[in-house]
Amino acid sequence: MTTGQCLCGDVKYAIEGKISPIWLCHCSKCRRGTGSAFHASAICGADKFEWLSGEDGIREFESTPTYVTRFCGRCGSPVPQQLRGTELVFLHAGALDEPIGRGVDHHIFTGSKASWYEITDDRAQYDEHRTPAT
Ligand SMILES: [Zn+2]
Ligand SMILES: [Zn+2]
Repeated sequence: MTTGQCLCGDVKYAIEGKISPIWLCHCSKCRRGTGSAFHASAICGADKFEWLSGEDGIREFESTPTYVTRFCGRCGSPVPQQLRGTELVFLHAGALDEPIGRGVDHHIFTGSKASWYEITDDRAQYDEHRTPAT
């Protein structure tokens, strides 16, 4: 069981079993949406995911039809979302309660990475989207 929550604690959720390995997205949308060098992402099966509280307070922003962010309406923290047309739930790795038992698998959109951030690990780097096998 993996659990997670937003900064204020209104939104809480649980994932049965393990999440996927983590990937780090360096695209410009993820950098703006997080205010950080990259977004740490993971996925789980929709059938493994359960809201524990706060689902009613979640808000949504559609940057493009394929880039939608959902966040707590009170504290603004990003919260999970089911990916449109899939049975997968997109997770924000930094919002999960430790230990999550997963490490970083790879980097994506490294061609868009921040000039001030240097990737120093030996994980694979891709210039397009790529989700890990769960
Ligand atoms: Zn919150
Ligand atoms: Zn991204």
